[in-house]
Amino acid sequence: MSADMTELHQRIVRSVEEHRPTVIAFLQDLIKAPSVTGQEGVCAVVCAEKLTSMGLEVDTWDTDPTELRAHPAANPSSFSYEGRPNVVGRYQGANPASGRSLMLNGHVDVVTAESVAKWTHDPWGGEIAENKLYGRGANDMKGGIACMVVALQSVLAAGLRPAGDVLVECVIEEEEGVGNGTLASLLRGYTADACIVTEATDLRVQPAMRGAIRWKITVEGQSSHGVEKWKGVDGIEKGFAVWQSLRYFQDAMSGINSHPYFAEYPISIPVTPDVIRAGAWRGMVAPDCVIEGYLETLPGHDTAYWEEQVRSYLHAVASTDPWLRNHVPRLEVTERYEAYAEDDDSPFVAAMQCAATEVLGEAGPLSGLNGGCDAYIRHVYGHAPTVVFGPTGDRAHGADEYVDIDSLVAATKVMALTIADWCGIA
Ligand SMILES: [Zn+2]
Repeated sequence: MSADMTELHQRIVRSVEEHRPTVIAFLQDLIKAPSVTGQEGVCAVVCAEKLTSMGLEVDTWDTDPTELRAHPAANPSSFSYEGRPNVVGRYQGANPASGRSLMLNGHVDVVTAESVAKWTHDPWGGEIAENKLYGRGANDMKGGIACMVVALQSVLAAGLRPAGDVLVECVIEEEEGVGNGTLASLLRGYTADACIVTEATDLRVQPAMRGAIRWKITVEGQSSHGVEKWKGVDGIEKGFAVWQSLRYFQDAMSGINSHPYFAEYPISIPVTPDVIRAGAWRGMVAPDCVIEGYLETLPGHDTAYWEEQVRSYLHAVASTDPWLRNHVPRLEVTERYEAYAEDDDSPFVAAMQCAATEVLGEAGPLSGLNGGCDAYIRHVYGHAPTVVFGPTGDRAHGADEYVDIDSLVAATKVMALTIADWCGIA
């Protein structure tokens, strides 16, 4: 705590420190509710009960798939929306005319705990060892949810009444169908003057994130019997050439695209094939080859721009091959989310960086989230300044995923101070 911290801030920080056991216990409750994407209902109940116990107005509803899919930002999902509600808790500001509203956002869904045999802690147990709390979702991102909920709880418990509304949204479907839960909440009418998405960021204030397109390239060949292979065109060979060329595309695009918030990452525009499929029958020349993967974008260009870049690159590659020239590889984009960055002079970013500096002594430089999350929905479609900020942990999506307990408390303090400073105290 710095010497010049105001009395109000000291009161908030003390309250968060008193709530250390509360953050830990609530995170354990969240982890003990296994909420692999598609089965979030069990964790939604834990969130709704907690928010209700804090005296918030709580809204729990199943996503309307028809309304969702009519929106251009909706991403494909393979699950039904029944019995896996989104939950929003609303603290009604004590003096909305003088305060600004704030949205705190976290996704409750997690990825599978497989392979469970590789864990040394129960993935659904919330076990603690040496200042680390273990479990699937501890880092991505139930730790952040615990911080944001207890941040508001600590402010209220200190006897303080935020002037503006504070909304807490615990949404489904980020690990598959990224953005859909947050989009459903936006479509239900929940907006705010600013938003913190509480994904783990190692306590760094990240007012930007990458976007991405998921692409599927079909490279056509022509099947024939292997004993007369001169009558066919080997789809594997053609596909392999396209696969190799993607590496040049990555290097070329990374050479001419950059953004200051992402300067620390060695590759600006990662292009990563993650599926390659070819071959139809033994002894048959492969009829075609399908390559799927992600292209990760930077703020500055939208995904439509990148789709066009890939398309024209494939045309250029095809023009060098007599067969491909007449059978240009087909491109489909099956998923997309937009990159964004807040302006340098954003008052909300400044408020958060100020709170982080106050709590941590020194906050790291502003940077961009090196991946996707729901934040773009709130920035691009909700038109709210949006920052990604959360605790420190490791092994997201891996065995022995954990979050650092001291960082949970620190992140909670930063969020609690931001509530007070951004929303005002009535
Ligand atoms: Zn996440």
